[in-house]
Amino acid sequence: MHISKSFIPILKNNPSEAKIKSHQLMLRVGMIKQSSAGIYSWLPLGFKVMKKIEQIVREEQNRIGVQEILMPTIQSSEIWKESGRYEDYGEEMLRIKDRQGREMLYGPTNEELVTEIFRASVKSYKSLPQLLYHIQWKFRDEIRPRFGIMRGREFYMKDAYSFDINDDEAFFSYNKFFLSYLKTFKRLDLTAIPMAADTGPIGGNLSHEFIILADTGESKIFTDKRIFELSGDGTPINKDSLIELRKKYEQFYAVTDEKFNKEEFENKVTEENRLITKGIEVGHIFYFGDKYSKPMGASVDLPGGKKDFVKMGSYGIGVSRLVGAIIEAKFDDKNEVMKWPLSVAPYDVAIIPMINKNDSSSLEKANNLMAELNKQNIDVIIDDTDENLSSKIKKMNLIGSPYQIIIGKKSDGNLFEFKEIGKETQNISVSDIIKIISEEKNKN
Ligand code: ATP
Ligand code: MG
Repeated sequence: MHISKSFIPILKNNPSEAKIKSHQLMLRVGMIKQSSAGIYSWLPLGFKVMKKIEQIVREEQNRIGVQEILMPTIQSSEIWKESGRYEDYGEEMLRIKDRQGREMLYGPTNEELVTEIFRASVKSYKSLPQLLYHIQWKFRDEIRPRFGIMRGREFYMKDAYSFDINDDEAFFSYNKFFLSYLKTFKRLDLTAIPMAADTGPIGGNLSHEFIILADTGESKIFTDKRIFELSGDGTPINKDSLIELRKKYEQFYAVTDEKFNKEEFENKVTEENRLITKGIEVGHIFYFGDKYSKPMGASVDLPGGKKDFVKMGSYGIGVSRLVGAIIEAKFDDKNEVMKWPLSVAPYDVAIIPMINKNDSSSLEKANNLMAELNKQNIDVIIDDTDENLSSKIKKMNLIGSPYQIIIGKKSDGNLFEFKEIGKETQNISVSDIIKIISEEKNKN
């Protein structure tokens, strides 16, 4: 891709309406454009990142055996009346009437709809567990949409739902998601800590929020620092290992402010290990038993001939919020340098040729190099404008490709000035460049 032909509307300065770095950067490099309060269009650069995040989320759902479906954005009010949430949900729900005067709504979440789909066809315990997910736009008429796509009114979410025969099996499903979330966020190069959380309007009694640390986050957290050393790596997917994993995490105090208890915190965590800080919620998992299956009559036949309501959980990841969350975690705003994790970078490599009016040789070299890299599935952006080198580098630093190659007069066509953001420049050959990037890509 050549920057002159791309739709990347870069602004000279940070837009004054943006208060946090992710919002500033996303507007500055034209990743998104606001269309009305809390509602955004996704332009090519932002869209590419979001789609890559979505794909990683999808792969990790598939890995634990969750099946992908797609439910509509518009739902009927009937099922929400059955669960009792039509009234409870309040003003965050966008209510719509169709031409027949039927009450519809733009889905803020999908527990009711997925329960209806389930109850229509699953009748026996033999079909359990059922794990279903979709990745779809949601609408919540947030009272204070802010920070760009971090707290939008329309946002993109992965939501999954589990249906099980009893508590024991349901906890197994819950724990699969617990592990899967640790892996998902790790692939996005984020450290997301599961914190015991309140269940809020979704209801139920067991819940974890996955939170990444950031000063601009809206969640207040209280934790034992040692929890950051843990990971889910190497945990096999079976009941006992997953219970062990949960125990490993739960030995350390880690809660959001709704669950905070000062005395407990001070008793459980020694002073040097205490951490009180802020974070961004990127995922949330809930177990709520028969809260929806009971009022909505979602039951299955049990082995002995009796029937029982299925036990359910739900599991969300804020796919669009993650774009902002990664920026909050990775953008060095002092030096104005973004480095996307290679797994979600809009372009793997930025090529910056020094171009002067009567000499197009560096641009030719850049084009040849791009062709070589493209053959190896390495995605490239070339700054083919005739701006000076330092302003091109500044621009590419904001776009945030993890690697940059500068092509000047001295480049002989065999060796290139290659640099990974934040590291030293090296003079290396195309094949070495390909080797470095491909190896890094394969790690994911
Ligand atoms: P919050 O406390 O941030 O309002 P929530 O508890 O309402 O989140 P859930 O209903 O669990 O969120 O939704 C799942 C995920 O969707 C959240 O973990 C978050 O990452 C994302 N999310 C929720 N609300 C928004 C929003 N208004 N804009 C962008 N992402 C959101
Ligand atoms: Mg909310």
